[in-house]
Amino acid sequence: MDNYKKQIAILGSTGSIGTQALDVIRSNRDYFSVEVLTANNNAGLLIVQSLEFRPNAVVIGNDLLYDQVNDALSGHDIKVYAGHEAIASVVEMDTIDTVLTAMVGFSGLKPTIRAINAGKQVALSNKETLVVAGEYITELAAEKGVNILPVDSEHSAIFQCMLGEFHNRIERIILTASGGPFRGKKRHELGYVTREHALKHPNWNMGAKITIDSATLMNKGLEVIEARWLFGVDHSQIEVVIHPQSIIHSMVEFEDGSIKAQMGVPDMRIPIQFALSYPNRWKSDFPRYSFANKTELNFEEPDTDTFRNLAIAYEALRKGGIVPCVINAANEVAVEAFLKDKLGFLEIPDVIEACMDRIPYISKPGYEDYFMSDKETRIIAKEIIN
Ligand code: MG
Repeated sequence: MDNYKKQIAILGSTGSIGTQALDVIRSNRDYFSVEVLTANNNAGLLIVQSLEFRPNAVVIGNDLLYDQVNDALSGHDIKVYAGHEAIASVVEMDTIDTVLTAMVGFSGLKPTIRAINAGKQVALSNKETLVVAGEYITELAAEKGVNILPVDSEHSAIFQCMLGEFHNRIERIILTASGGPFRGKKRHELGYVTREHALKHPNWNMGAKITIDSATLMNKGLEVIEARWLFGVDHSQIEVVIHPQSIIHSMVEFEDGSIKAQMGVPDMRIPIQFALSYPNRWKSDFPRYSFANKTELNFEEPDTDTFRNLAIAYEALRKGGIVPCVINAANEVAVEAFLKDKLGFLEIPDVIEACMDRIPYISKPGYEDYFMSDKETRIIAKEIIN
C-alpha cells in the first residue's frame, strides 16, 4: 500500500458509533486522515476530538454552541461551522473520500443524499436513511457509482457472507437479533417498564435511541428494511431469528441450501473497521471469541404478538412507498416520548400504527415527499401522545 491516506468525514463523531470509529482510526493512523467531524450538541467532546485529530473542518449542529467551539479551536487552523444545513453541505468538500454517517434518525437523510450526489463513498451507520428512502438512495448511489458500505453489524455480516458470491442468488437472509432486555417477556409483564429497564441491553453498548429500538424490536424491523435495499431482496426472503448470544451477526442462505454465517464477539469496532478498510482486513487487537468459554448458541422465533414493532416494519415494507418513512418518524417521536416518561412501552406501536392509518399514501415518493411526510407524521404522532 502506498502512503495515501483515506480522507474521512464522520457525521455524529461524539455518539457511540462516532467515538468507536475514532478508536479504529486512532489505531490505524497510517491509513486515515480525519477531514471533518460533526456533532449535534456535545460541543465539549467535539472540541477534544478536534484537538486530537486535527480535522480540516468541524460542524456543531446546534447554532447556540458555535461560539464555544469556535473559541476553543481558534488558532488551530480548523474551520468551524454551525447548523444542520452546514452538516449537509460540508460532506461535499473536495478533500473527502468517505463519509461515515453515524448520526441518529431522519437527520441522516439529507447529508447522505448530498454525499452520494458529490460522489463520496458512504459508510452507512444511519440505518434510518435507508428505511425512509431506500429506493431513492439505492437508485441514486447506483447512478453515481457510489458504494454504500454497511456499518450495522448484521448488514456487515451479510455483506461479508456475500464476498465472492455477488453473482450468486440469495435465497434467504437470516437476520439475527439478540431479543433485547425483554426477550421472553409477555405483554402483561411489560406495561410498566421504565426507560432504565429498557436502556439495559444485554450484549451491545449503544446510544439511547437504538437501545430502546432494540427493546421493542423496532431496531430489527428497521434492519429488515435496510437489508431489503442494501441487498436487493424481497421482504419474503428476509427472516428474523432471535439469537441471544449475539455471536452470529447474520447469515445468508444461497440457492443450493448452503448457509454462510459471520461470527465474532459483539464489538461494533469490527464492522466499523471493515467498512473503512474494505476490501482489506486489518489486524486488530479487539477481543477474540472463545469456543471454550461459550459453548451454546441458541435460536428462537421472534414473538411479534408481544413485540409488535417487528410486524409493523414488515407491513410497512410490504406497503412500500412512503409508509416506511411514516413508521420511522412516528417511532422517533414515540421513543423520545418514552425516554421522557410521557409514553408507556406498549403504547409505542399504537402511536406508529395510528400514524400509518392517518398519513396519506404516496406510492413513489420524491425527494420533497420524504421531508413533508416526515414532518406531517411528527405533528400527528405528537398530537396522539399528548
Ligand atoms: Mg444492528
